[in-house]
Amino acid sequence: MEILLASNNKNKHKELLKIFQEFGSKHTLIVNKDIPDVIEDKNTIEENAKKKAEECYEIFKSPIISDDSGLFVDALDGQPGVYSKRYAGLSSTDVENNQKLINELKTADNLSAFFKTVLCYFDGLNFITSEGVLEGNIVFEPRGNYGFGYDPIFEVSGKTLAEMTLDEKSNISHRKLAAVKLVEKLNEI
Ligand code: IMP
Repeated sequence: MEILLASNNKNKHKELLKIFQEFGSKHTLIVNKDIPDVIEDKNTIEENAKKKAEECYEIFKSPIISDDSGLFVDALDGQPGVYSKRYAGLSSTDVENNQKLINELKTADNLSAFFKTVLCYFDGLNFITSEGVLEGNIVFEPRGNYGFGYDPIFEVSGKTLAEMTLDEKSNISHRKLAAVKLVEKLNEI
C-alpha cells in the first residue's frame, strides 16, 4: 500500500523515509505531494494529529500518516505542550519561545522535560496511532547550531539536541521512536 505523509517538512521526509526502509516497512511512504496547512487548534497533540490525518484524507483520498509534536515541561505541568510552536505568541520565533520558557523556569528546581510525537495513520476507516517520547532537561544557556525549535535548550546526556547532527538526533528522537512503532503496527495490516 502507498501511504502519503502529511508534511511538507523535508527533514521529516528524510527521517521517516529512512525509518520505513531500515525497519522493513512493507508499505511505501509517499512524500512528494503539496500538503495544505491544517489549523492545529485541538487541546492535545493526539487530537491535532488525528485532525490533520482526516482533513488530508478528505483531500487526497489516500491512506495518510500525519504527525504532531510538543515539548512537555514537568515544572510547568506539561506546558508548552500542544502550544509549543506558538508559546510566546501566534507568530513567535524559536528564540522567543526558548526565552519565554527560560523565564518561566527561573525559579524552578526541577528542569526535567520530554518531547512527545504522535503519529497517526488514517485510511478513511481506521486510525492507527503511535507515540514516541524523548526525556531530557532544560538548560538556561542555549547551546549548538543544529536543529530547530527548543533543540538549543533541551539536553540529553550532557549534549543539547542542537549540538547533535541530524543523524545523531534522529537516532534517539521522539519522532524516530514513534515511527518505528508505527512501521511495526502497519506491517500487521
Ligand atoms: P511539530 O508538530 O513537529 O511541527 O512540532 C511542533 C512544535 O514543537 C515545533 O514548532 C517546536 O517548537 C516543537 N518541537 C517539536 N519537535 C521538536 C524537536 O525535535 N526539537 C525542538 N523542538 C521541537
